[in-house]
Amino acid sequence: MDGLNNNYRRVFRIVIVKEIILNQSQLDMLTEHAIKSAQNESCAMLLGIQKEEQWNVKEIFLTQNVDGNPEVEFTISPEELLSGYRHAEEKHLELVGIFHSHPKSIALPSNTDREFMRLNGDIPWIIFSGLTTDFKAFILKEDVEEIKIKIMERHFFQ
Ligand SMILES: [Zn+2]
Repeated sequence: MDGLNNNYRRVFRIVIVKEIILNQSQLDMLTEHAIKSAQNESCAMLLGIQKEEQWNVKEIFLTQNVDGNPEVEFTISPEELLSGYRHAEEKHLELVGIFHSHPKSIALPSNTDREFMRLNGDIPWIIFSGLTTDFKAFILKEDVEEIKIKIMERHFFQ
Protein backbone atom coordinates (compact mmCIF):
# COMPACT_ATOMS: atom_id res chain seq x y z
CA MET A 1 0.00 0.00 0.00
CA ASP A 2 2.73 2.40 0.96
CA GLY A 3 4.59 1.70 -2.24
CA LEU A 4 1.47 2.43 -4.23
CA ASN A 5 0.81 5.69 -2.39
CA ASN A 6 4.36 6.80 -2.91
CA ASN A 7 4.06 6.16 -6.61
CA TYR A 8 0.90 8.21 -6.79
CA ARG A 9 2.56 11.01 -4.91
CA ARG A 10 5.50 10.97 -7.25
CA VAL A 11 3.23 11.12 -10.30
CA PHE A 12 1.20 13.93 -8.75
CA ARG A 13 4.31 16.01 -8.08
CA ILE A 14 5.32 15.81 -11.71
CA VAL A 15 1.87 16.98 -12.81
CA ILE A 16 1.95 20.24 -10.81
CA VAL A 17 2.80 23.11 -13.13
CA LYS A 18 4.69 26.07 -11.80
CA GLU A 19 2.72 29.09 -12.85
CA ILE A 20 1.83 32.60 -11.86
CA ILE A 21 -1.79 33.52 -12.47
CA LEU A 22 -2.97 37.03 -13.36
CA ASN A 23 -5.90 38.54 -15.21
CA GLN A 24 -5.74 40.79 -18.24
CA SER A 25 -6.55 44.01 -16.37
CA GLN A 26 -3.65 43.35 -13.98
CA LEU A 27 -1.33 42.86 -16.96
CA ASP A 28 -2.71 46.07 -18.50
CA MET A 29 -2.01 47.92 -15.25
CA LEU A 30 1.60 46.69 -15.23
CA THR A 31 2.07 47.57 -18.90
CA GLU A 32 0.78 51.08 -18.27
CA HIS A 33 3.03 51.44 -15.20
CA ALA A 34 6.03 50.39 -17.32
CA ILE A 35 5.17 52.74 -20.18
CA LYS A 36 4.70 55.70 -17.79
CA SER A 37 8.17 55.07 -16.35
CA ALA A 38 9.58 55.61 -19.85
CA GLN A 39 13.38 55.08 -19.85
CA ASN A 40 13.43 53.95 -16.23
CA GLU A 41 12.64 50.51 -14.90
CA SER A 42 9.28 50.28 -13.15
CA CYS A 43 8.47 47.93 -10.30
CA ALA A 44 5.57 46.55 -8.28
CA MET A 45 4.73 44.04 -5.60
CA LEU A 46 2.31 41.28 -6.59
CA LEU A 47 0.03 40.26 -3.73
CA GLY A 48 -2.04 37.12 -3.68
CA ILE A 49 -2.27 33.54 -2.57
CA GLN A 50 0.23 30.75 -3.04
CA LYS A 51 -0.83 27.15 -3.38
CA GLU A 52 1.85 24.56 -4.05
CA GLU A 53 3.72 25.88 -7.09
CA GLN A 54 0.98 28.26 -8.19
CA TRP A 55 1.04 31.92 -7.34
CA ASN A 56 -2.35 33.55 -7.80
CA VAL A 57 -2.12 37.34 -8.04
CA LYS A 58 -5.08 39.16 -6.46
CA GLU A 59 -3.71 42.68 -6.21
CA ILE A 60 -0.99 44.79 -7.73
CA PHE A 61 0.81 47.16 -5.38
CA LEU A 62 2.56 49.69 -7.63
CA THR A 63 5.85 51.05 -6.29
CA GLN A 64 8.38 53.72 -7.21
CA ASN A 65 11.83 52.88 -8.45
CA VAL A 66 14.18 54.77 -6.10
CA ASP A 67 17.38 53.28 -7.48
CA GLY A 68 20.27 55.66 -8.23
CA ASN A 69 20.69 53.94 -11.56
CA PRO A 70 17.01 53.54 -12.56
CA GLU A 71 17.58 52.91 -16.26
CA VAL A 72 19.11 49.50 -15.61
CA GLU A 73 18.25 48.65 -12.02
CA PHE A 74 15.37 48.99 -9.60
CA THR A 75 14.96 49.39 -5.86
CA ILE A 76 11.77 49.59 -3.85
CA SER A 77 12.20 51.82 -0.78
CA PRO A 78 11.98 50.09 2.62
CA GLU A 79 9.01 52.35 3.49
CA GLU A 80 7.08 51.29 0.42
CA LEU A 81 7.96 47.64 0.94
CA LEU A 82 6.62 47.93 4.46
CA SER A 83 3.35 49.49 3.33
CA GLY A 84 3.03 46.80 0.66
CA TYR A 85 3.45 44.09 3.29
CA ARG A 86 0.99 45.88 5.61
CA HIS A 87 -1.56 46.16 2.82
CA ALA A 88 -1.14 42.43 2.08
CA GLU A 89 -1.66 41.57 5.72
CA GLU A 90 -4.86 43.62 5.93
CA LYS A 91 -6.24 41.80 2.90
CA HIS A 92 -5.02 38.38 4.10
CA LEU A 93 -2.71 38.12 1.14
CA GLU A 94 0.99 37.44 0.83
CA LEU A 95 3.74 38.57 -1.49
CA VAL A 96 3.51 36.18 -4.46
CA GLY A 97 5.72 37.99 -6.94
CA ILE A 98 7.98 40.89 -7.82
CA PHE A 99 7.42 42.81 -11.03
CA HIS A 100 9.84 45.03 -12.87
CA SER A 101 10.38 46.21 -16.42
CA HIS A 102 13.31 46.36 -18.79
CA PRO A 103 12.62 49.44 -20.94
CA LYS A 104 15.28 48.72 -23.54
CA SER A 105 16.13 45.04 -23.24
CA ILE A 106 14.46 41.66 -23.41
CA ALA A 107 12.54 40.09 -20.53
CA LEU A 108 15.38 38.00 -19.09
CA PRO A 109 16.81 38.39 -15.57
CA SER A 110 20.04 40.40 -15.59
CA ASN A 111 22.98 39.35 -13.40
CA THR A 112 21.83 41.87 -10.77
CA ASP A 113 18.31 40.43 -10.95
CA ARG A 114 19.70 36.93 -10.36
CA GLU A 115 21.59 38.13 -7.30
CA PHE A 116 18.45 39.70 -5.84
CA MET A 117 16.36 36.65 -6.70
CA ARG A 118 18.73 34.73 -4.46
CA LEU A 119 18.07 37.17 -1.60
CA ASN A 120 14.34 37.42 -2.10
CA GLY A 121 13.41 33.79 -1.61
CA ASP A 122 11.04 31.49 -3.27
CA ILE A 123 8.73 33.74 -5.31
CA PRO A 124 8.40 34.39 -9.03
CA TRP A 125 9.71 37.49 -10.73
CA ILE A 126 7.79 38.91 -13.67
CA ILE A 127 9.68 41.01 -16.19
CA PHE A 128 8.10 43.19 -18.87
CA SER A 129 10.20 44.11 -21.87
CA GLY A 130 9.59 47.52 -23.43
CA LEU A 131 11.51 46.22 -26.43
CA THR A 132 9.36 43.20 -27.25
CA THR A 133 6.33 44.24 -25.09
CA ASP A 134 6.01 40.80 -23.59
CA PHE A 135 5.97 39.44 -20.07
CA LYS A 136 8.02 36.53 -18.79
CA ALA A 137 8.13 34.96 -15.35
CA PHE A 138 11.05 33.30 -13.60
CA ILE A 139 11.75 31.58 -10.35
CA LEU A 140 15.04 30.68 -8.77
CA LYS A 141 15.32 27.02 -7.81
CA GLU A 142 18.75 25.48 -8.31
CA ASP A 143 19.05 27.80 -11.25
CA VAL A 144 16.75 30.48 -12.66
CA GLU A 145 13.94 28.80 -14.54
CA GLU A 146 11.13 30.24 -16.61
CA ILE A 147 7.60 29.51 -15.42
CA LYS A 148 4.24 29.88 -17.09
CA ILE A 149 2.15 33.06 -16.91
CA LYS A 150 -1.48 32.00 -16.92
CA ILE A 151 -3.95 34.70 -17.90
CA MET A 152 -7.35 34.29 -16.25
CA GLU A 153 -10.58 35.17 -17.97
CA ARG A 154 -12.15 38.40 -16.83
CA HIS A 155 -14.85 37.79 -14.22
CA PHE A 156 -17.19 40.34 -12.72
CA PHE A 157 -16.61 39.19 -9.18
CA GLN A 158 -12.88 38.68 -9.32
ZN1 LIG B 1 15.96 43.40 -14.40
